[in-house]
Amino acid sequence: MTDSEILEGVLEEFKKLAAIPRPSGHIEKVSLFLKDYFAEMGFNAVQDEVKNVIVDAPPAAGFENAPLIVLQGHMDMVAVEADGVPFNPAKDPIRLMRDDKYLKAAGTSLGADDGMGVAAIMFLAKNMKTRGALRFIFTVDEETGMTGASFLDEKYLKDAKYLINCDSEVFDEITVGCAGNVTMDFEKEINRIPIAKKNIVEISLTGLLGGHSGERIGDNRANAIKSLAKACGEIDGQSEIELIEINGGNARNAIPSFAKCVIATDMEPDMLNIVLMNEGRSLYSMYDEEGATFSVKEVATDKKAIARGDAMRILQFINLVHSGIYAVDQNGNVETSANLGMIRTEENQVKISVLPRSSRDKKLDLFISKGKDLAELTGFKAAFSDKTPCWSYSESVPLAEAMKEIFEKTTGGKMRIKETHAGLECGYFKKKNPDLEIVSVGTTNEEIHSPRERLALATVAPMVRMVEQTILDISKKTCF
Ligand SMILES: [Zn+2]
Repeated sequence: MTDSEILEGVLEEFKKLAAIPRPSGHIEKVSLFLKDYFAEMGFNAVQDEVKNVIVDAPPAAGFENAPLIVLQGHMDMVAVEADGVPFNPAKDPIRLMRDDKYLKAAGTSLGADDGMGVAAIMFLAKNMKTRGALRFIFTVDEETGMTGASFLDEKYLKDAKYLINCDSEVFDEITVGCAGNVTMDFEKEINRIPIAKKNIVEISLTGLLGGHSGERIGDNRANAIKSLAKACGEIDGQSEIELIEINGGNARNAIPSFAKCVIATDMEPDMLNIVLMNEGRSLYSMYDEEGATFSVKEVATDKKAIARGDAMRILQFINLVHSGIYAVDQNGNVETSANLGMIRTEENQVKISVLPRSSRDKKLDLFISKGKDLAELTGFKAAFSDKTPCWSYSESVPLAEAMKEIFEKTTGGKMRIKETHAGLECGYFKKKNPDLEIVSVGTTNEEIHSPRERLALATVAPMVRMVEQTILDISKKTCF
């Protein structure tokens, strides 16, 4: 097959997925579609209780003794629209737009994460006839806590030797390790009192870079919530404030790029502007943020002020909770980090979300213990999720080395083998079968989880060829 035949063939499969609305939490339709799709090919396809789909494709004649290889992807997607685009993620299909270089969606995320992984597997299932036994596993709700991977019965992994996860976003990188994480939620009841200060103003901090907290936490970006809380502290140091509300960020796994608060103050507007200008300068000198802007405007509010003691505990919590790199490994890669991702003020309570990540499981326990202490000191209630397991190898991974060689031979390009500080379902798979050799690969999908998400078309054929040749080599036992 030519590169363009592979590309068109995979996109044909991808179109079928794009036509089915499949945001996390609404995966019934796509799950049933996948089960039927593979059953019609004559394979044994089953759904488990959470609607993961598991497909067994028997070996071709003469390949009965080849080791079992699992190809895996997740069926859900992050469905988000650009401002002002009418879009119901649970009902509306993704509308595709294509140019010479990219496949995109009209005003929404594309779902190449992980629709391209799933489509590549559908394509290979259809077209690869010479091979040993394959198993395809399509998990649910990877994007919201990896429910599918966590629930998956280990029997589907125990008899396999290799697992190729097709959920990475850079076509010339093979991932062989990822960090684990734990979600931490904090809540504080607040008392409110009448406002006594004369000026009510909204202070906002916008224009920060933000970014995925697994991939960008080491890039010296500022945390908008922390920077805003620091500014409040500065103002308060000169003239006592009344905090009315503070909000910022929109996901625990994204570095917050904006935050806003409403305060009452006796400080004159000119003076307030000077304090904020200085805060802006200090932010520039600490972080690589050139677009950050503090602004202030007078507003009306029907809310009362948060009682002084409660307000101070909230600002202290924000100041003390760790957000950013915590430790790096010998190679200078981020090993442990945490992200203060979101704060919301409601009438009677404040909620804060934090996400620590680590490639050393025990360090997550350290964060849980710190979280408990901080919550106790500041009068917050704390809740922690189960830990998502990390995935790591102490030595090199022969499967990755073999795939690197195949890629470099077929494309003439360089392949990098690396670990990621983000989370992958592979942590769960490795935990369920420690003997399983796992790699994660993918096409190049840019700006995932955003309405700008796009697939680099030229990366489809090289990725599919690499996986196909790997299956062939393993089946014929020409590698390892
Ligand atoms: Zn994904």
